[in-house]
Amino acid sequence: MKLFDAHTHYYDKKFAEKYPGGTQGAIADSLAAGVCGFLCAGTNPDTAQASITLAKQYKNMYASAGLHPQDTADYSIAQLPTVLSAVESLLTHPKTVAVGEIGLDYHWDPDRRVQKEAFDAQLSIAASMGLPAIIHDRDAHGDTMDMLRAHKDATGMIHSYSGSAEMALEYVRMGWYISFSGPLTYKNAQKLRATCKVVPPDRLLVETDCPYLPPVPHRGKINTSALMIYTLETMAECVGISIQEMAAQTVENTCRLFHIALL
Ligand SMILES: [Zn+2]
Repeated sequence: MKLFDAHTHYYDKKFAEKYPGGTQGAIADSLAAGVCGFLCAGTNPDTAQASITLAKQYKNMYASAGLHPQDTADYSIAQLPTVLSAVESLLTHPKTVAVGEIGLDYHWDPDRRVQKEAFDAQLSIAASMGLPAIIHDRDAHGDTMDMLRAHKDATGMIHSYSGSAEMALEYVRMGWYISFSGPLTYKNAQKLRATCKVVPPDRLLVETDCPYLPPVPHRGKINTSALMIYTLETMAECVGISIQEMAAQTVENTCRLFHIALL
């Protein structure tokens, strides 16, 4: 059974600090568990470059480059063009397959004008380069939807989806993919599982967001792609198909969205 982890952060220093063998150990354990594809998401030019370095090292590891809404805290509106041109130059690397992660974060909530300006500009970059976007929406469901509605030519994935079923279906109608992570397995996540049930299976993605968001029964640990099987199992139950079928469907969806042919 092949698995594709559609969203990871393998450059994160938590791996070096807390996981046996660090990043390389976590990837080796994931490969051994049947994960054959990874997308390592950048959050600023430095982590995007680190993602590309990993993508060069592992044949089925792909990178994305973008300025995360939390990382916009480091910049003023006037500084955005410079950092976004650094992002743009990383998007030309052959293993960079998406713009992201980008979006809005009203939980950590840096200056919303800067967040929105960066999000808006990067959606335009994604559309002009013909690349899918990876959307981070934390406690900003309404404004995220408005922004994506305003960019009809952009497409991509809503990463670690946390909105309503109605909104997920609206995103699907707009051409977007819905990606679920560890929280789908949480005891109190009935609403999320109900959402998973109504999304067309050919628009579902599965991800870890590792080292964050470990699924049940590994909450509190460092997450890796090897633990994605628990989320996939929950997803298969929601959709009403076997875990093997769910794995094959999500691999196919991820490869279609990111224009990837696994080696
Ligand atoms: Zn992430």
